[in-house]
Amino acid sequence: MSEQTTHRRIALVTGANKGIGRAIAEGLGALGMTVLVGARDPRRGEEAAAALRAAGGDAHALILDVTDPDTVQKAAAEVGERFGHLDVLVNNAGITGSGQVSPADAHDQIPSTVDLDMVRTVFETNVFGVIAVTNAMLPLLRRSPAPRVVNVSSHAASLTLTSDPDGPFAALLPSAAYTPSKAAVTALTVQYANELRKDGVLVNAAAPGFVDTDSNAHTGTLTPAEGAAVVVRLATLGPDGPTAGFFGAEGRLPW
Ligand code: NAP
Repeated sequence: MSEQTTHRRIALVTGANKGIGRAIAEGLGALGMTVLVGARDPRRGEEAAAALRAAGGDAHALILDVTDPDTVQKAAAEVGERFGHLDVLVNNAGITGSGQVSPADAHDQIPSTVDLDMVRTVFETNVFGVIAVTNAMLPLLRRSPAPRVVNVSSHAASLTLTSDPDGPFAALLPSAAYTPSKAAVTALTVQYANELRKDGVLVNAAAPGFVDTDSNAHTGTLTPAEGAAVVVRLATLGPDGPTAGFFGAEGRLPW
């Protein structure tokens, strides 16, 4: 029997099996949405979805490697067949390129010596993956009465913040792969927002802050739920909400 209904709000979060993505899935589930837990590993995705269901939410694992066009197309087809539409897309899946190390220990992204293959790999996931997933899901988003897209970026994507020699970002180690990839994500956010404004699709970028996850070897100071809050807010904007914006917990961020 078809599970399609015009009333059921469906959200897809990429990279939702752990970290901030999982907390975003929990937050959207707590608001009554059906949450599709995007995960490249079926077992990890199913474990996360089962935990969300055990907590009372309606969650389903969706196999989705954002760098694998085949899984992206299959995921879109599955969402279409099962639910008929998509209300929220959160492009959360991301990698630093440096593995699971503290940003203070990542010495491999100095611009003059960075490995170009590492830069390509980071862009493949963090940038090209966002385009691939967004374009595959857009036909389903267009069937929603209030479609929302949130791209998970970073304070490090702000050229204003990172170019301030007296600001806190000047003290961080150089980041020739990750930081430019997130700046590309915010730039893409504006491009999508401008294209889709007339269609009522609100597209914004979010910076979760420095969150305790595997990606920084658990040196982050915020909980995943704290980092997820701004994403959940942008994913559930009302009709007069902003589009083409870049937000953190503290409000609008400079580009
Ligand atoms: P995390 O704990 O390492 O989680 C990353 C998630 O992305 C995992 O589910 C991972 O899946 C998934 N992923 C990686 N490559 C993927 C691919 N090709 N296809 C599908 N999923 C993929 O990292 P996190 O800290 O929660 O980061 C989540 C997002 O927040 C990222 O975009 C990150 O850049 C951003 N962010 C994080 C912080 C922070 O302080 N933590 C700050 C600013 C922005 P696997 O489990 O299979 O690896």
